[in-house]
Amino acid sequence: MISDRASFQIQSDKLMQKLKELGIKGDVLEAMQKIPREVFLAPAFKHEAYKDAALPIGESQTISQPKVVALMTHALDVKKHHKVLEIGTGCGYQTAILCKLARRVFTIERFASLKDAADRRLHEMAISNYVTQVGDGSLGWVGQAPFDRIMVTAASPTPPQALLDQLGEDGVMVIPIGKQEDEFQRLMRYYRRTDGSIGEYYLGDVRFVPLVGEQGVSQAAS
Ligand code: SAH
Repeated sequence: MISDRASFQIQSDKLMQKLKELGIKGDVLEAMQKIPREVFLAPAFKHEAYKDAALPIGESQTISQPKVVALMTHALDVKKHHKVLEIGTGCGYQTAILCKLARRVFTIERFASLKDAADRRLHEMAISNYVTQVGDGSLGWVGQAPFDRIMVTAASPTPPQALLDQLGEDGVMVIPIGKQEDEFQRLMRYYRRTDGSIGEYYLGDVRFVPLVGEQGVSQAAS
């Protein structure tokens, strides 16, 4: 019988092949190869780590599909010197990938239990170029703004103005936009033009848990 580790490696290689076929390459592919997804899952879900599926991570939240993580990360176009804000730490998988690509990552999670578990995993993986906070990420992280890149991994009916305001020069934000009752949300890329105005680009349809907060979905509606 092959070991769990060898089995995960084979499954990971297959997934990476699929991501390559989607056009994922360079630093993003390398970061995804380096971060084992099984580490971020509870024992009951580890064997599904390399299926291209969203999986439960506790508090009724989910880890995103690897393909969606890859496409969002690719669209974010993170450079080595970037300061990145992530909203929705969840299990920390996307955080780990951003940490491989950026100089520093600031990540906000609503649930302390998820933030603590993510922190533990990132610490075990010796990833330390990030800071986390429990709070309402729809308001961003005022004290650390501006950011070169903002990644939001929960869906909002409209792009939170606070986050657009915290986008620096040449800043890019990737965020799913839409209501929970809709079948899909629209994955959008917002970018700050040289004249300061904001442009937008539609990337594709996705399905995300709601961004619950002042500039997202109200608690009562979630
Ligand atoms: N990137 C995560 C995805 C988790 S799902 C991962 O790879 O696991 C989205 C996460 O956003 C959930 O953990 C949810 O609790 C969190 N979230 C929702 N609204 C939020 C808000 N206003 N501020 C911070 N986190 C929020």
